[in-house]
Amino acid sequence: MQTSIGGAMNRFYAHCQQKNFADAPFHGNAAVLNFINTAKNSRRHDYLPSYDAFLYWCREGGVIDGSTYLTLEFEAYCNPIEIQELHRQVIELRETLTELFTALLHKTELPVYAMPRINRWLATARQHLSYQVINGRPATQWINIHEELAFPLWVLVLEAQELFDPVWLAKLKQCRGCGALYLDVSKCRTRTWCSANACGKKLRNRRYYKKKVLGNNA
Ligand SMILES: [Zn+2]
Repeated sequence: MQTSIGGAMNRFYAHCQQKNFADAPFHGNAAVLNFINTAKNSRRHDYLPSYDAFLYWCREGGVIDGSTYLTLEFEAYCNPIEIQELHRQVIELRETLTELFTALLHKTELPVYAMPRINRWLATARQHLSYQVINGRPATQWINIHEELAFPLWVLVLEAQELFDPVWLAKLKQCRGCGALYLDVSKCRTRTWCSANACGKKLRNRRYYKKKVLGNNA
């Protein structure tokens, strides 16, 4: 039985090592695209099988900082029932964003249910945003987010809202290798894979094999 936060942390780290988070997709150039890319497809497993895993992923992916992670990790440990519902919302948000950005990428009809859901999450997130004076200028700040287990979801929804801007949508692409979504921020906009060391390497090796091996046997 877990009786301390230390025990809970060990459990999370064991889970993450077991799931090999070092391989988690972080190549999207945007946290919200990385979030979409955590879903299972033919080449990868689901990186977010629980709220605990989601929280850890958020820390690894820069959605929340280490201090927020520790606070929410303890809060999650104390609220096992609440995090089950939150995990359901995590998956619902991921599915909604996946369908939405895939439709935007392929310029197809947007799913009708997507906007009401996004609006619902945005409305909650905005209740925790406030203009403050920072260095003599107005800037938005998060307020009253301490111990709010849904906070990482709000961060992701706000970033999704930013990506709806046509400037960013023009950079949206899908990896030819694994199907991951990413922003192509390369100078010439000619990137066709999510990562140079993952799918990029595989595609280069395939091209080399075709040219050298198949070419010589032709
Ligand atoms: Zn890829």
